[in-house]
Amino acid sequence: MKKRPTVFNIQKFSTHDGPGIRTTIFFKGCPIRCEWCHNPESQVFAPEIMLNKYGKEELIGKDYSIRELVKKIQADQIFYDQSGGGVTFSGGEVMAQDMDYVVELAKECQRMGISVTIDTCGVAPRENYEKILPYADLFLYDLKFIDSQFHREFTGIGNELVLENLRYLSQQKAAIDLRLILLEEINADEETAEAIIDWLDKENIHVDEISLLPYHDFGRDKYKRLNRECTQNFIKPSDEQVETIQKVYESAGYQVSIGG
Ligand code: SF4
Repeated sequence: MKKRPTVFNIQKFSTHDGPGIRTTIFFKGCPIRCEWCHNPESQVFAPEIMLNKYGKEELIGKDYSIRELVKKIQADQIFYDQSGGGVTFSGGEVMAQDMDYVVELAKECQRMGISVTIDTCGVAPRENYEKILPYADLFLYDLKFIDSQFHREFTGIGNELVLENLRYLSQQKAAIDLRLILLEEINADEETAEAIIDWLDKENIHVDEISLLPYHDFGRDKYKRLNRECTQNFIKPSDEQVETIQKVYESAGYQVSIGG
């Protein structure tokens, strides 16, 4: 029996969640808690109340049948076809939702010729990745920290599962865009970039692209609107710093983009 996941946003004409023009489905619920998260309303699996910009209570999260979501996705197929786009399943964490539902949705999209991208933090059972693999054209794969202690400190859990799933997807020759958050004074430095490159080399991991995601604090206000404390105390790295890191990856032969 499939359980309908909660969806908290459907973003049409998105250009940051994979190639071309896309519809991004944001599934609600995430197994980790990144301190820099700019979508705190994505973390809890169930619908919840959040104040809107005008101070009025709004219920965040709604469930859809597969047929309803497919209809919404299909509505913009002409734009996907013209731009090389498609649909992105994001979150929260799509891979921590009911996989029978997610796989069937992806299958339907594939059947209609719509390309599927999975945006994931890597924290989900391996079998979920095995199930979605035949229907996914691209993985946007977050690597928060290569050091497990740092990962635990800033997300609540170590990174062993994240690394193991990344290894698996690479071995299966999945297309991977590795996405790296950059936090000033924490990991936005050349040493961290070199450590990640060394690890990818040592593990023989192939990624098609690296996306550098400089921290921004646009989500801070949302914590207040959810009646939650925002403990974020990060600094956005400078453009020069980001360019320096970009060069480190480029010199190692990676194709690098900045931003999502
Ligand atoms: S993985 Fe993404 S959605 Fe989950 S807490 Fe981290 S930033 Fe937020």
